[in-house]
Amino acid sequence: MSTRRKALTGNGRSDWYTRMNETSSVSDGALTLRFWGVRGSTPVSGPDFVEFGGNTPCLEIRCGNRLFVIDAGSGIGPFGRSNAETLPQEIDLLFSHLHLDHTAGLPFFKPAVFDANRTIHTYCGNLDGACASEALGRLFSPPLFPVELSVLPCCLEHHGFKAGEPLSFVDGVRVDTILLNHPQGSVGYRFEHGGKRLCVISDIEHSDPWPDAALLEFVRDADLVVYDGMFTEGEYCRCQGWGHSTWQKGVELAQAANAKALAIIHLHPAHTDAQLRQVEAEMQAVMPASFIARERQTVDVGAVMTSARPQLALALTA
Ligand SMILES: [Zn+2]
Ligand SMILES: [Zn+2]
Repeated sequence: MSTRRKALTGNGRSDWYTRMNETSSVSDGALTLRFWGVRGSTPVSGPDFVEFGGNTPCLEIRCGNRLFVIDAGSGIGPFGRSNAETLPQEIDLLFSHLHLDHTAGLPFFKPAVFDANRTIHTYCGNLDGACASEALGRLFSPPLFPVELSVLPCCLEHHGFKAGEPLSFVDGVRVDTILLNHPQGSVGYRFEHGGKRLCVISDIEHSDPWPDAALLEFVRDADLVVYDGMFTEGEYCRCQGWGHSTWQKGVELAQAANAKALAIIHLHPAHTDAQLRQVEAEMQAVMPASFIARERQTVDVGAVMTSARPQLALALTA
Protein backbone atom coordinates (compact mmCIF):
# COMPACT_ATOMS: atom_id res chain seq x y z
CA MET A 1 0.00 0.00 0.00
CA SER A 2 1.36 3.36 -0.95
CA THR A 3 2.20 5.70 1.88
CA ARG A 4 2.20 8.74 -0.38
CA ARG A 5 0.41 11.75 0.97
CA LYS A 6 -0.83 15.00 -0.41
CA ALA A 7 0.29 18.38 0.86
CA LEU A 8 -2.87 20.22 1.79
CA THR A 9 -2.98 23.79 2.90
CA GLY A 10 -5.19 24.94 5.73
CA ASN A 11 -8.15 25.56 3.48
CA GLY A 12 -7.87 22.13 1.95
CA ARG A 13 -6.53 23.43 -1.33
CA SER A 14 -3.89 21.19 -2.86
CA ASP A 15 -1.01 23.51 -3.46
CA TRP A 16 2.45 22.47 -4.59
CA TYR A 17 5.56 24.40 -5.02
CA THR A 18 9.14 23.90 -5.98
CA ARG A 19 11.56 25.71 -3.75
CA MET A 20 14.30 27.00 -5.95
CA ASN A 21 17.94 27.38 -5.13
CA GLU A 22 17.70 26.91 -1.44
CA THR A 23 19.95 24.48 0.28
CA SER A 24 17.44 23.50 2.90
CA SER A 25 18.37 21.60 5.97
CA VAL A 26 17.41 18.12 4.91
CA SER A 27 14.98 16.65 7.35
CA ASP A 28 14.53 12.89 7.32
CA GLY A 29 11.34 13.10 5.32
CA ALA A 30 12.70 15.44 2.69
CA LEU A 31 13.32 14.31 -0.87
CA THR A 32 15.60 16.82 -2.54
CA LEU A 33 17.23 17.12 -5.90
CA ARG A 34 20.05 19.37 -6.98
CA PHE A 35 21.06 19.78 -10.60
CA TRP A 36 24.83 19.92 -11.12
CA GLY A 37 24.71 19.51 -14.89
CA VAL A 38 21.72 19.88 -17.19
CA ARG A 39 23.36 20.24 -20.61
CA GLY A 40 23.19 17.37 -23.09
CA SER A 41 25.79 15.91 -25.45
CA THR A 42 28.74 18.20 -24.72
CA PRO A 43 29.65 20.85 -22.16
CA VAL A 44 29.33 24.47 -23.21
CA SER A 45 30.52 27.76 -21.78
CA GLY A 46 30.34 31.44 -22.55
CA PRO A 47 28.10 34.43 -22.00
CA ASP A 48 25.06 32.73 -23.58
CA PHE A 49 25.09 29.84 -21.08
CA VAL A 50 25.34 31.54 -17.72
CA GLU A 51 21.82 31.10 -16.38
CA PHE A 52 21.14 27.45 -17.27
CA GLY A 53 24.75 26.31 -17.13
CA GLY A 54 27.04 24.32 -19.35
CA ASN A 55 27.93 21.13 -17.50
CA THR A 56 26.68 17.75 -18.71
CA PRO A 57 24.38 15.63 -16.53
CA CYS A 58 24.92 15.05 -12.85
CA LEU A 59 22.04 15.03 -10.35
CA GLU A 60 22.35 14.93 -6.57
CA ILE A 61 19.38 13.22 -4.94
CA ARG A 62 18.89 13.06 -1.19
CA CYS A 63 16.32 10.80 0.43
CA GLY A 64 16.62 12.43 3.83
CA ASN A 65 20.39 12.47 4.19
CA ARG A 66 20.82 9.39 2.01
CA LEU A 67 22.73 10.32 -1.16
CA PHE A 68 22.29 9.07 -4.69
CA VAL A 69 24.19 10.53 -7.63
CA ILE A 70 22.81 10.14 -11.12
CA ASP A 71 25.39 10.28 -13.90
CA ALA A 72 28.98 11.44 -14.04
CA GLY A 73 28.89 14.16 -16.65
CA SER A 74 31.10 17.18 -16.20
CA GLY A 75 28.76 18.39 -13.43
CA ILE A 76 30.11 15.73 -11.08
CA GLY A 77 33.31 17.77 -10.59
CA PRO A 78 31.62 20.80 -9.02
CA PHE A 79 29.28 18.47 -7.13
CA GLY A 80 32.23 16.72 -5.53
CA ARG A 81 34.07 19.91 -4.67
CA SER A 82 30.97 21.54 -3.18
CA ASN A 83 30.29 18.49 -1.01
CA ALA A 84 33.90 17.67 -0.17
CA GLU A 85 33.35 17.68 3.57
CA THR A 86 30.13 15.72 3.63
CA LEU A 87 30.44 12.98 1.00
CA PRO A 88 29.70 9.55 2.50
CA GLN A 89 32.34 6.83 2.49
CA GLU A 90 30.15 4.70 0.22
CA ILE A 91 28.72 6.57 -2.75
CA ASP A 92 26.05 5.14 -5.03
CA LEU A 93 26.42 6.45 -8.59
CA LEU A 94 23.52 5.43 -10.82
CA PHE A 95 24.24 5.69 -14.54
CA SER A 96 21.36 6.43 -16.88
CA HIS A 97 23.69 4.99 -19.53
CA LEU A 98 27.33 5.26 -20.50
CA HIS A 99 27.44 7.81 -23.31
CA LEU A 100 30.28 10.28 -22.91
CA ASP A 101 28.16 13.15 -21.65
CA HIS A 102 27.12 10.94 -18.69
CA THR A 103 30.50 9.38 -17.86
CA ALA A 104 33.39 11.66 -18.86
CA GLY A 105 33.47 13.46 -15.52
CA LEU A 106 34.11 10.34 -13.43
CA PRO A 107 37.92 10.71 -12.96
CA PHE A 108 37.33 14.36 -11.99
CA PHE A 109 34.99 13.47 -9.14
CA LYS A 110 37.30 14.98 -6.53
CA PRO A 111 37.99 14.56 -3.72
CA ALA A 112 36.14 11.22 -3.74
CA VAL A 113 38.33 9.48 -6.31
CA PHE A 114 41.51 10.41 -4.44
CA ASP A 115 40.38 8.93 -1.13
CA ALA A 116 41.64 5.40 -0.54
CA ASN A 117 38.99 4.87 2.14
CA ARG A 118 36.12 5.65 -0.16
CA THR A 119 34.10 3.28 -2.32
CA ILE A 120 32.17 4.46 -5.34
CA HIS A 121 29.55 1.95 -6.41
CA THR A 122 28.44 2.38 -10.01
CA TYR A 123 25.18 0.92 -11.27
CA CYS A 124 24.59 0.28 -14.96
CA GLY A 125 21.28 -1.09 -16.20
CA ASN A 126 21.19 -0.60 -19.95
CA LEU A 127 23.62 -3.36 -20.99
CA ASP A 128 21.45 -6.39 -20.32
CA GLY A 129 22.96 -7.03 -16.91
CA ALA A 130 26.57 -6.15 -17.68
CA CYS A 131 28.28 -3.62 -15.42
CA ALA A 132 30.12 -0.50 -16.58
CA SER A 133 33.61 -1.86 -15.94
CA GLU A 134 34.56 -2.90 -19.46
CA ALA A 135 33.09 0.15 -21.19
CA LEU A 136 34.68 2.58 -18.74
CA GLY A 137 37.95 0.69 -19.08
CA ARG A 138 37.90 1.33 -22.83
CA LEU A 139 37.06 5.00 -22.35
CA PHE A 140 39.60 5.70 -19.63
CA SER A 141 42.76 4.18 -21.06
CA PRO A 142 45.52 5.38 -23.38
CA PRO A 143 45.45 6.87 -25.91
CA LEU A 144 41.96 8.25 -25.17
CA PHE A 145 42.84 9.06 -21.55
CA PRO A 146 46.31 9.16 -19.97
CA VAL A 147 45.64 6.65 -17.19
CA GLU A 148 43.32 3.82 -16.33
CA LEU A 149 40.72 4.17 -13.58
CA SER A 150 42.60 1.55 -11.57
CA VAL A 151 45.26 4.13 -10.69
CA LEU A 152 42.70 6.12 -8.72
CA PRO A 153 43.10 5.58 -4.96
CA CYS A 154 39.37 5.10 -4.35
CA CYS A 155 37.68 1.73 -4.68
CA LEU A 156 35.36 1.45 -7.66
CA GLU A 157 32.79 -1.32 -7.50
CA HIS A 158 30.73 -1.79 -10.63
CA HIS A 159 27.29 -3.36 -10.45
CA GLY A 160 25.23 -4.45 -13.44
CA PHE A 161 21.47 -4.93 -13.51
CA LYS A 162 18.72 -5.15 -16.09
CA ALA A 163 16.62 -2.00 -16.42
CA GLY A 164 13.18 -2.81 -15.09
CA GLU A 165 14.57 -4.57 -12.04
CA PRO A 166 14.35 -2.65 -8.77
CA LEU A 167 17.61 -1.78 -7.06
CA SER A 168 17.73 -2.79 -3.40
CA PHE A 169 20.46 -1.36 -1.22
CA VAL A 170 21.93 -2.72 2.01
CA ASP A 171 20.28 0.03 4.08
CA GLY A 172 16.88 -1.12 2.85
CA VAL A 173 16.37 1.70 0.34
CA ARG A 174 14.77 0.66 -2.93
CA VAL A 175 14.95 2.48 -6.27
CA ASP A 176 12.76 1.40 -9.18
CA THR A 177 14.06 1.43 -12.73
CA ILE A 178 12.74 1.30 -16.29
CA LEU A 179 14.38 0.85 -19.70
CA LEU A 180 14.09 3.95 -21.91
CA ASN A 181 14.12 4.29 -25.69
CA HIS A 182 17.62 5.55 -26.54
CA PRO A 183 20.53 4.24 -28.63
CA GLN A 184 22.00 1.37 -26.56
CA GLY A 185 19.18 1.98 -24.10
CA SER A 186 19.00 4.20 -21.05
CA VAL A 187 17.60 3.78 -17.54
CA GLY A 188 14.90 5.85 -15.84
CA TYR A 189 14.88 5.94 -12.04
CA ARG A 190 12.09 6.39 -9.49
CA PHE A 191 12.80 7.48 -5.90
CA GLU A 192 10.18 7.39 -3.18
CA HIS A 193 10.83 8.91 0.20
CA GLY A 194 8.76 10.57 2.89
CA GLY A 195 5.60 10.07 0.87
CA LYS A 196 7.07 11.81 -2.17
CA ARG A 197 7.94 10.46 -5.58
CA LEU A 198 10.65 11.64 -7.97
CA CYS A 199 11.18 10.19 -11.46
CA VAL A 200 14.24 10.93 -13.58
CA ILE A 201 13.57 10.07 -17.23
CA SER A 202 16.58 10.84 -19.44
CA ASP A 203 17.89 10.13 -22.04
CA ILE A 204 14.78 9.17 -23.97
CA GLU A 205 13.14 9.53 -27.37
CA HIS A 206 9.35 9.49 -27.19
CA SER A 207 7.44 6.78 -29.02
CA ASP A 208 4.34 6.82 -31.18
CA PRO A 209 1.77 6.46 -29.69
CA TRP A 210 2.73 8.55 -26.70
CA PRO A 211 2.86 8.32 -23.73
CA ASP A 212 4.21 4.81 -23.64
CA ALA A 213 1.95 2.74 -21.36
CA ALA A 214 4.71 1.28 -19.18
CA LEU A 215 6.39 4.64 -18.73
CA LEU A 216 3.05 6.26 -17.91
CA GLU A 217 2.58 3.78 -15.04
CA PHE A 218 6.16 4.27 -13.92
CA VAL A 219 5.77 8.04 -13.46
CA ARG A 220 2.13 8.03 -12.32
CA ASP A 221 1.37 10.54 -9.54
CA ALA A 222 4.99 11.65 -9.34
CA ASP A 223 5.62 14.85 -7.43
CA LEU A 224 8.30 15.70 -9.96
CA VAL A 225 9.23 14.22 -13.33
CA VAL A 226 12.64 15.18 -14.71
CA TYR A 227 12.53 14.74 -18.48
CA ASP A 228 14.76 14.97 -21.57
CA GLY A 229 13.63 18.04 -23.53
CA MET A 230 16.66 18.49 -25.75
CA PHE A 231 14.86 19.53 -28.92
CA THR A 232 12.15 21.95 -29.85
CA GLU A 233 9.37 20.42 -31.93
CA GLY A 234 10.78 22.26 -34.94
CA GLU A 235 14.19 20.67 -34.43
CA TYR A 236 12.89 17.22 -33.61
CA CYS A 237 11.65 16.47 -37.13
CA ARG A 238 15.26 16.76 -38.30
CA CYS A 239 16.67 14.76 -35.39
CA GLN A 240 14.35 11.76 -35.29
CA GLY A 241 16.12 8.62 -34.12
CA TRP A 242 18.81 10.52 -32.21
CA GLY A 243 17.37 9.39 -28.88
CA HIS A 244 15.98 12.60 -27.40
CA SER A 245 12.65 14.28 -26.89
CA THR A 246 10.85 17.63 -26.54
CA TRP A 247 9.29 19.57 -23.67
CA GLN A 248 5.88 19.07 -25.30
CA LYS A 249 6.24 15.30 -24.92
CA GLY A 250 7.34 15.82 -21.35
CA VAL A 251 4.21 17.85 -20.62
CA GLU A 252 2.03 15.21 -22.31
CA LEU A 253 3.61 12.51 -20.17
CA ALA A 254 3.43 14.50 -16.93
CA GLN A 255 -0.18 15.55 -17.42
CA ALA A 256 -1.37 12.09 -18.47
CA ALA A 257 0.35 10.64 -15.40
CA ASN A 258 -1.09 13.23 -13.01
CA ALA A 259 2.42 14.36 -12.12
CA LYS A 260 2.57 17.50 -10.01
CA ALA A 261 5.58 19.14 -11.62
CA LEU A 262 7.97 18.77 -14.53
CA ALA A 263 11.63 19.71 -14.95
CA ILE A 264 13.37 19.68 -18.32
CA ILE A 265 17.03 18.65 -18.60
CA HIS A 266 19.51 17.47 -21.27
CA LEU A 267 19.45 20.93 -22.80
CA HIS A 268 20.74 21.30 -26.34
CA PRO A 269 24.32 22.65 -26.35
CA ALA A 270 23.34 25.34 -28.87
CA HIS A 271 20.34 26.65 -26.94
CA THR A 272 21.17 29.96 -25.31
CA ASP A 273 19.80 31.38 -22.07
CA ALA A 274 17.54 33.71 -24.06
CA GLN A 275 16.14 30.85 -26.13
CA LEU A 276 15.61 28.66 -23.08
CA ARG A 277 13.78 31.41 -21.21
CA GLN A 278 11.47 31.77 -24.19
CA VAL A 279 10.91 28.02 -24.36
CA GLU A 280 10.24 27.94 -20.63
CA ALA A 281 7.59 30.64 -20.93
CA GLU A 282 5.86 28.66 -23.70
CA MET A 283 5.96 25.51 -21.60
CA GLN A 284 4.62 27.23 -18.48
CA ALA A 285 1.69 28.61 -20.45
CA VAL A 286 0.69 24.97 -20.95
CA MET A 287 1.84 23.57 -17.60
CA PRO A 288 2.51 26.23 -14.94
CA ALA A 289 4.26 23.81 -12.58
CA SER A 290 7.07 23.16 -15.01
CA PHE A 291 10.52 24.65 -15.50
CA ILE A 292 13.76 24.20 -17.34
CA ALA A 293 16.36 23.08 -14.84
CA ARG A 294 19.22 25.38 -14.04
CA GLU A 295 22.64 24.20 -12.94
CA ARG A 296 22.96 24.26 -9.12
CA GLN A 297 19.21 24.68 -8.68
CA THR A 298 17.81 22.81 -5.70
CA VAL A 299 14.30 21.40 -5.63
CA ASP A 300 12.47 20.27 -2.52
CA VAL A 301 10.39 17.58 -4.19
CA GLY A 302 6.74 17.53 -3.22
CA ALA A 303 6.84 20.67 -1.10
CA VAL A 304 4.12 23.23 -1.65
CA MET A 305 4.16 24.53 -5.18
CA THR A 306 3.20 27.98 -6.26
CA SER A 307 4.66 27.90 -9.72
CA ALA A 308 7.98 27.88 -11.41
CA ARG A 309 7.46 31.04 -13.37
CA PRO A 310 10.55 32.60 -14.93
CA GLN A 311 10.56 35.71 -12.76
CA LEU A 312 10.55 33.54 -9.62
CA ALA A 313 13.28 31.33 -10.98
CA LEU A 314 15.35 34.30 -12.04
CA ALA A 315 14.93 36.00 -8.69
CA LEU A 316 16.17 32.93 -6.92
CA THR A 317 19.04 32.13 -9.23
CA ALA A 318 20.58 35.55 -8.74
ZN1 LIG B 1 23.04 12.35 -23.01
ZN1 LIG C 1 22.85 9.13 -24.64
